[in-house]
Amino acid sequence: MSIAEAENRILAEVYQKFPIVAVRGKGVLVWDSKGREYIDCMSGYGVAIVGHCHPKVVEAVKNQCEKLMVCHCSLYNDVRVEFLETLVKYTPKGLDKVFLSNSGAESIECAVKLAAKYTGRREFIAFTGSYHGKTLGALSLTWSLKYRKPFEHLLYPHVKFARYNDVEDFESKITDNTAAVIVEPVQGESGIHISSYEFIKCLRELTYRYGALLIVDEVQAGLGRTGRLWSHQHFNIDPDIMCIAKGIGGGIPLGVTVARSEIMNVLRIGEHSSTFSGNPVACAAAKAVLNVIVEENLAGNAERVGGKLRDMLQKVKSETPLIREVRGLGLMIGIEMKVNIYNILLETIRRGVIPLYSGINTIRLLPPLVINDDQVGRVAGVLGEVMKAYTVK
Ligand SMILES: *Cc1c(COP(=O)(O)O)cnc(C)c1O
Repeated sequence: MSIAEAENRILAEVYQKFPIVAVRGKGVLVWDSKGREYIDCMSGYGVAIVGHCHPKVVEAVKNQCEKLMVCHCSLYNDVRVEFLETLVKYTPKGLDKVFLSNSGAESIECAVKLAAKYTGRREFIAFTGSYHGKTLGALSLTWSLKYRKPFEHLLYPHVKFARYNDVEDFESKITDNTAAVIVEPVQGESGIHISSYEFIKCLRELTYRYGALLIVDEVQAGLGRTGRLWSHQHFNIDPDIMCIAKGIGGGIPLGVTVARSEIMNVLRIGEHSSTFSGNPVACAAAKAVLNVIVEENLAGNAERVGGKLRDMLQKVKSETPLIREVRGLGLMIGIEMKVNIYNILLETIRRGVIPLYSGINTIRLLPPLVINDDQVGRVAGVLGEVMKAYTVK
């Protein structure tokens, strides 16, 4: 039996699978079981943000594994403090109290509980196209009916969806009962959509006016991906709560909720917790990841190389009628197609580049932020070839 067959037989079949058995990774590259090399623009949905097996992250994890792998937050821990102090050095001013969990969805669950308890209110506003995860609380804030519909009867009923980037619709939905508004400054799952400056400014102004909290979901767009350490920094606002996950653990599961201390401090002992929270291996990895992002100026690289890649993709667009739009910020890039993209994705993989879906008709690229000029040239070259071959057919 092949590895693919064996996996499909036992693992829940809830993932759209691509025909690669990945066995090894280094930087921007991964290799399959037959030794074929790929440029990884999926990077585990943006998780390999500093590249696969970055030596500093590997070293931090190895060292910690030999020292201590288990330490519940009921006990203090040296590496946990080192990570927390590193983290709050880089979080926006005022966001300096942290809860640690194990995934993006969990970082959202914590934010929801914080907002509800802090404000004493129960209504939430999320946006069309939003994605915040698939646990019940996070799923309640997620737009896609495909994910929500089968579980509608379990979901939290006090969520209003306002139209994304529509100031008037938002104004009509916020009230004195709104606990919090949650937004991805750049939407990832629904096709890479960038918030307008006016829209994010309006969210901040009206949440202040109504006494509601503003939660920014930086799970996908954070950590330098868009060319700034935090994507909301493009909009010059101070959020009340920020959620981080995906790349922060360098591949070790880790979710982070950061809030103003007066908000985080409403939680009393036992009102929120998680067994794995503050795991020393995850903390060692995350400290190394943050240091690599800053020391190697990966946000700067994302801005520069990402801009270059988008320029090359615009050129591909001008040469084929298949592309509707190329958009993105930094190395968070969407190529919206006029045709079904499944076969295009398969052909791109066959030619050595692993892309990602976003929405139904958008090819998403989330390469590690260490990707260089040559490599983005190869990515654009392969996509250009695939589109041209597809057009001729
Ligand atoms: C991936 C993602 C989540 C959910 O993270 P999980 O680790 O899959 O639970 C939440 N918000 C955004 C913006 C995401 O991209």
